[in-house]
Amino acid sequence: MTVLVNLHSHLEGRVNPATAAALAKEASIPTPGDGWDDAIVLKKPGSLTTYLHKVAATYPFFRSPEAVRRIAREAVLEAAADGEHHLELRFGPATHATDERGMGTLVDAALEGLRDGRASTGVSTGLVLAALRHHDTDVNEAVARVAVARAGEGIVGFDLAGDELLYPALEPHVKAFSIARAAGLGITCHAAEAAPAHWAQTAVSLLGATRIGHGAHIADDPDVMAWCADQGIVVEICPTSNVYTGAIPALQQHPEQAFRRAGIAMVLGDDNPVQTGRMLADEHALLTDVFGWSATEVVNLARASINAAFLEPADRIRLTQLADDALSHI
Ligand SMILES: [Zn+2]
Repeated sequence: MTVLVNLHSHLEGRVNPATAAALAKEASIPTPGDGWDDAIVLKKPGSLTTYLHKVAATYPFFRSPEAVRRIAREAVLEAAADGEHHLELRFGPATHATDERGMGTLVDAALEGLRDGRASTGVSTGLVLAALRHHDTDVNEAVARVAVARAGEGIVGFDLAGDELLYPALEPHVKAFSIARAAGLGITCHAAEAAPAHWAQTAVSLLGATRIGHGAHIADDPDVMAWCADQGIVVEICPTSNVYTGAIPALQQHPEQAFRRAGIAMVLGDDNPVQTGRMLADEHALLTDVFGWSATEVVNLARASINAAFLEPADRIRLTQLADDALSHI
């Protein structure tokens, strides 16, 4: 048995076309010209702009707590069908909040959906709230406070997402991250996805990140790779997403081999699986089928994932037991 731990997946990338059509009907949202499938799903690799455009097509649904609950619940059901044992989702509530539906209401709806999904599948879950680079300092601090108020009740971490080339400065977000860290939340940050390697170091030193989302460009700089390995920084890799956003030209160019050689711990995610049509089990299959990982390396991935996951203690014990059982069957 393979232990599948999904550590980089966005709730906003979880609205499948059938759900979109149903939610649109309920809310009287007009169907896009070529239908929801075309509006949401990427048919082939493109650029980060087209990738994010497809994700953003689902944003109108995230203004409704009922829809958010359904999307979160379905994410867990689909993860269970994919064979996943733990699903850590991330969600940027400030993008969707309105005067009527505040961030807390939307986050509580997401947590309810995750709890419902967990109750019917047994898949454990955690929610990471994402601040956004293009949002004002006070907005991101408010997101941190929403997260902190729900620490221990399903919120497990804090993240920074958004366009790092357009909004490179991390200093404006230092306070938001210190609020999250002080409450014991895990810290991750999308970094060195499009920008140079050393920006990942800045995310670690300024924000306290222990994990870096994507981090593809870390591989461009041997010194930064050595530093990440030495510091025990974990890179969340999402290979198919990197191809679909144009971060790498082909899977064979993924930097996972450079990370392995440098001794950098990696964990796996499916980023926005509705847009790419590839879920975590597909990403996991790439490790052996395309990248040539050994059985031992696959087991080590499960262990690294459990170590790096922002987990409630009981979930850590359960997943560790699963990994131990898997190891005994190799
Ligand atoms: Zn991401």
